[in-house]
Amino acid sequence: MSTRRKFLFSSAAASIAALAGKRSFGAASYQTRKNDPVVVSTWDFGKAANAEAWKTLRNGGSALDAVEAGVKIPEADPNNHTVGYGGYPDREGHVTLDACIMDEQYRCGAVMCLEHIKHPIAVARLVMEKTPHVQLVGEGALQFALANGFQKENLLTPESEKAWKEWLKESKYEPVMNIENQNNLPGGPYNHDTIGMLAMDAKGHLSGACTTSGMAFKMRGRVGDSPIIGAGLYVDNEVGAATSTGVGEEVIRIVGSHLVVELMRQGYTPKAACKEAVERIVRRNPKKAKDIQVGFLAINKKGVYGAYALQKGFTYSVKSGREEKIYDAESKWK
Ligand code: ASP
Repeated sequence: MSTRRKFLFSSAAASIAALAGKRSFGAASYQTRKNDPVVVSTWDFGKAANAEAWKTLRNGGSALDAVEAGVKIPEADPNNHTVGYGGYPDREGHVTLDACIMDEQYRCGAVMCLEHIKHPIAVARLVMEKTPHVQLVGEGALQFALANGFQKENLLTPESEKAWKEWLKESKYEPVMNIENQNNLPGGPYNHDTIGMLAMDAKGHLSGACTTSGMAFKMRGRVGDSPIIGAGLYVDNEVGAATSTGVGEEVIRIVGSHLVVELMRQGYTPKAACKEAVERIVRRNPKKAKDIQVGFLAINKKGVYGAYALQKGFTYSVKSGREEKIYDAESKWK
């Protein structure tokens, strides 16, 4: 598209959105200069991940390299019980990891229910780059990782094992919302939260990565939204990118991240698109939507970002040449 046509297209889209009342809802979105690199990611712990991604972005590296490097930080952190090493196990005591990655050419790769490998995101990238497939699961994903030089490791830390054993006493599957942002929560060791990261590099290209240990104490073999392209992550380099966190089953039902990107294509701002996706979850089952958390985070081609969640407490981290911040996302229920 010529620059002029692009301009006309985006102005037309903006007017349509304005007429439809779908403009930005306030502070938590930001316009960067054209092709100013920017990286955004879910939760407070995204801040350290962004800082790592930024090392690549600020040196003119690709968004793809940036997001992979960034999410490896929480993957390797034993104190983060929702991603990678140290993640809480399933109800049988196995740490099973899910991850996916997507670049500016619709290339994508994913691993699901992968055990013993500390960096599932790196395996997902190899699936994308070295195989004719998009997804590898379980034993096959492990075989592929080992054949490509990854080391088999024990990912269940003593702390996570203790939490699991504690959980076994009652064995109640009741995910606690926003656990990453609630230190010393008295409700027990239940846990979920995921890192979804979206970046735009100096060429204006978008990429994203999403990685998680999934819902703590889930059924063996359970896979959520995070490694599913379109649900936990979607990147369309013409329009924008989106990612999600929260109860994955609800995100899968609405193919959440793809929905957010398609809404941005229609002219919604990133935040308004995230809000509409959340509203769709509410419309499907208003009663259930009261008790669970789902949050979406999105960025468009201009580097404008925004987020929205069902419940209060969803935060996201932003790093660009101008700011390094953690924002509270607006939410449906206050
Ligand atoms: N979305 C993840 C899952 O369902 C968990 C989370 O982000 O809290 O596995």
